[in-house]
Amino acid sequence: MKTTTDFHTERLNAGQKVGVINLGCARNLVDAQMLLGRLKKNGHRIVEATQAQTVIVNTCAFIEEARQESIDTILNLIDLKKKGKIKKVIVAGCLAQRYGKDLVKEFKDVDAFMGTPTMSRQDMREQVQLTPRHFAYVKICESCFNACSFCAIPKIKGKFVSRNIESVLKEVASLDAKGVQEINIIGQDITAYGMDIYRQKTLAKLLKEISRVCRNIQWIRLLYAFPAHMTDELIATMAQEDKVCKYIDMPLQHISDHILKAQNRNITTAQTYELVRKLRTAIPDVFLRTTYIVGLPGEDQAAFEQLRRFNQEMRFERVGVFLYSKEEGTAAALMPHQVPQAVKKERLGLLMSDQQAISKKIQQTFVGRRLKVLIEEQEPNSEDTFIGRSQYDAPDVDGLVYVRSSMMLTPGQFVNVNITDAYEYDLAGVAIP
Ligand code: SF4
Repeated sequence: MKTTTDFHTERLNAGQKVGVINLGCARNLVDAQMLLGRLKKNGHRIVEATQAQTVIVNTCAFIEEARQESIDTILNLIDLKKKGKIKKVIVAGCLAQRYGKDLVKEFKDVDAFMGTPTMSRQDMREQVQLTPRHFAYVKICESCFNACSFCAIPKIKGKFVSRNIESVLKEVASLDAKGVQEINIIGQDITAYGMDIYRQKTLAKLLKEISRVCRNIQWIRLLYAFPAHMTDELIATMAQEDKVCKYIDMPLQHISDHILKAQNRNITTAQTYELVRKLRTAIPDVFLRTTYIVGLPGEDQAAFEQLRRFNQEMRFERVGVFLYSKEEGTAAALMPHQVPQAVKKERLGLLMSDQQAISKKIQQTFVGRRLKVLIEEQEPNSEDTFIGRSQYDAPDVDGLVYVRSSMMLTPGQFVNVNITDAYEYDLAGVAIP
């Protein structure tokens, strides 16, 4: 049985039909694209996983739920192998990186285990794009050095590493030349970009450089910003650069001072209020996406009520809520006053129902306005309705815009839309010829 910390695709018989099942986040998707790029370069044929002889499952190990999904997928593939439907099963990604040795003992029918890739060892232009052709994820850094008490990612991903600016610009230029319209800048903490190789926060500078090489690309979106690493320069750059979406995903995780301290987020309640005020002042139409964790050990009713009031006051446009998950090897796992699961779920439910009402009101403000929409696809079984996203909608996690059009619209096309209807998270409207 082979285990390796990097991808040694030479071990696969040449010309194999290889497919990947990608689990987890957009950062994992880029890892899968890198793996397929390496396989293609070594002469393997990249096909849909359903057509493949060798299937790679790129696993996620973030929280218990994700680990269970990864293990279920591995078991399904082993079953297909036993039935002779596929020849080889390869397990890659965070679960293999974190539990490689245990998995080897557990899954004798798996042919190889691969950890997560190392960006510096690969030309990032050699990825096989798994997203629709008109948008792409650009991973600018790996892992992070923030030791949030509830999070195991730094233990899985290792040392924080930024790519150099040249490498990012080459990749963006190659995506631009391929006709990509939208790039999503990702990492575990994009706001720490450059703190290792340039000894300072360099995301603002990188964004200006990226804007300059974009000809076809019209949208540059920021995902996974760490609040304590936000800078005035970055906020000003988001405001000034036309191609930078007026949108940022910035997980706050909580607002109460003692919970932020227990989470080791390096930010206070007051600093968080000030940061949101700065963003809203500098970029009046900015869409703020954030996430919270409810049920961290020590989160009493008062701390939770403070979070609810904060969320109602701030009226964030996009909110996700996670249940605290006790992660082996993390500081929070050893903390006293663990919160019962039922209480966590109740708190998540209350926050999400608050947010549904907030989001509905925010969506209503778009009725009668014109929005630029990037078309993703035609609505199934419809002649004249298409599905798209505005600059306020990140792929896969946010709302959609349903566009009625007498003209045929194609994926990757931008169209101006008069918004006629609004729902909790989605909008609908008519394309302007
Ligand atoms: S910023 Fe915190 S939550 Fe995010 S990956 Fe790093 S340690 Fe985990």
